[in-house]
Amino acid sequence: MYSFHSSSELVKLAKKHKKPIWEIVLLNEMSSSDKTRKQIVNKMSERITVMKEAVNKGLKLSTKSVGGMVGTNAIKLSKGIQKKQKDMMMSKEALLSITYAISTSEMNARMGRIVAFPTAGAAGVIPGVFLAAQKKYKFSDKKLTEGLFTASGMGMIIGENATLAGAEGGCQAEIGAAVAMAAAALTEMRGGTPDQCMHAASLGLKNLLGLTCDPLGGMVEVPCVKRGGILSVLALSASDMAIMGVESYVPFDEVVESLNHIGRMLSPKLRETALGGLAVTKTGQKIKKRLGFKDTLNGNADLY
Ligand code: SF4
Repeated sequence: MYSFHSSSELVKLAKKHKKPIWEIVLLNEMSSSDKTRKQIVNKMSERITVMKEAVNKGLKLSTKSVGGMVGTNAIKLSKGIQKKQKDMMMSKEALLSITYAISTSEMNARMGRIVAFPTAGAAGVIPGVFLAAQKKYKFSDKKLTEGLFTASGMGMIIGENATLAGAEGGCQAEIGAAVAMAAAALTEMRGGTPDQCMHAASLGLKNLLGLTCDPLGGMVEVPCVKRGGILSVLALSASDMAIMGVESYVPFDEVVESLNHIGRMLSPKLRETALGGLAVTKTGQKIKKRLGFKDTLNGNADLY
């Protein structure tokens, strides 16, 4: 009764039942599992707690990551916001979103506990956007939990019709999906309509199509950590635009279809193998050597 396989079906259900997207996603989960509403909501609200713990822990640490490439920037940003925010171009909330996203991803790179929502590599975007929005709009944790259901619904659509894995579709499928999920959820938490949520998701994802997955040394550190921070701001922009009435010319389902096609066209060297892009720059080669990385694509990779 509440099942959906595309954004158009999801919006149709929301309109038919006069319910927000988050509730349709929750009802769908209830009908496809043996869990009660309370159990599902409680489980989801635990994600918010874990996200906050990861951000807070990350803001106190400056220890390096496993690969040694990241780990010191969340603290720099947090101190910078306190001392120099008025000199910065971006709003405090946008800077907080970057900071929280980077804090989460630095924790992931230290093998700390995070919520892989939708993946570990893209885990920073949603806490960045959600916790910055909570500061600005004083959202309750209950509201954020509802937002996670909206985000999940978007992730389910992308996962079913394309992929959420960098190894299959490039970074457009990981951080691109996270941005779409965050943009739709933020828009709904701010009172946007189901259609506005889809426009926000499309505006975010469209602008990340083709994004490659080329992590240095095959570690989820560079470019992943800062990318999640910077692109969390794209979710804020997409949501602002949708709330102000800007529409995506291409509907979300077609953007997802495009993500799928582009992912299939991407060279395997640009899909988490560390055999192309940034991973084969001089710096990338140095990291590979230091980490003892072996090129594995068909045993004998032509790096360029
Ligand atoms: S570059 Fe690859 S590993 Fe890093 S976040 Fe993007 S998809 Fe994940």
